[in-house]
Amino acid sequence: MAESGPADPATTAPFGTVFAERMALSRFADGAFSPPELVPVAALDLHPAAHALHYGSACFEGMKAHRGVDGKVRLFRVDRHVERMRVSARLLHLPVPGTDLLHDMIRDTVADARDLVPDPPGSLYIRPVLLGTEPNVGAAAAPSRTALLYILTSPVGDYFSGGIRPLKVAVETEHPRTTPQFGRVKSGANYVMALGITLAAKQELGVDQVLFAPGGDVQETGASNFLLLDDERVITRGLDDSFLHGVTRDSVLRLAGDLGYEVEERDLSVDELVGWAEHGEAALSGTAAILSGVGALVVDGREVTVGDGAVGPNTLRLRRALTDVQTAAAPDDHGWTEPV
Ligand SMILES: *Cc1c(COP(=O)(O)O)cnc(C)c1O
Repeated sequence: MAESGPADPATTAPFGTVFAERMALSRFADGAFSPPELVPVAALDLHPAAHALHYGSACFEGMKAHRGVDGKVRLFRVDRHVERMRVSARLLHLPVPGTDLLHDMIRDTVADARDLVPDPPGSLYIRPVLLGTEPNVGAAAAPSRTALLYILTSPVGDYFSGGIRPLKVAVETEHPRTTPQFGRVKSGANYVMALGITLAAKQELGVDQVLFAPGGDVQETGASNFLLLDDERVITRGLDDSFLHGVTRDSVLRLAGDLGYEVEERDLSVDELVGWAEHGEAALSGTAAILSGVGALVVDGREVTVGDGAVGPNTLRLRRALTDVQTAAAPDDHGWTEPV
């Protein structure tokens, strides 16, 4: 059940169901975004014919602010998320918010919610949203000329209930998660396309997630990127339009390089994955998932244990390296964090 306001302890509620009281909001009309305002998180004034509701002109972002070991609140790689949302908007033919506008709206919303940011391992999840709002059901083949941009925030604990535990993942070798040319757009339409397959796999196979690997070509899961790890190497698919270019993926690869791992960005087959499972580790990466270990795969109805079935040491090491930077427990050598 969704509630509004500073519920305590927010981090024990299901992920993403508790919201801050206010959000920055800007409207696009007559060719420009309005100066943003902080408004109550409440029902939107949206026409029933709004473009987003009929023709899918909607995208979002997902990022976090962390409370550091020094008590200060910092955004993590906000520039990357701002840039990715601009890419999503462009590919959906929505008005593209300016870099400074979007960055400032995120900062202002987080500053306003600063007191709600939980201590680690909790954090403040930040959800910018952009919707086409033109009331015109005749605009099926035209972009929306008006839009709404707002920044929801939600204090969160663990994304996967049960804390750090190995996940069970079904490998889907027939269907892609979404249409190939839209894989890198962060839009709800991509999620709903993957939903039927994910629900069926959860129900029939008791898995947590589905790894999409159409034709045996590994892409990603419904909401996370996918990596293989062992003591020497980290392997993941190279960037192309078929999947979402995760900021966590990029961060983990950079930290892995710093720590002396060999990083390989290249195509990955299900056959290689099954062979890898005999000795190596597999993990999902994402803002919400952080770096979550995979303990078992289901391939063609057969269960394959990954390594010894537990969350592997390299997965835990890299997860720790990432959260240490996010919480200022380790130096921020790459300039990824920004105090709010
Ligand atoms: C958001 C998302 C990810 C993870 O991206 P991060 O920037 O690491 O949070 C991965 N896959 C999909 C489909 C996503 O929507």
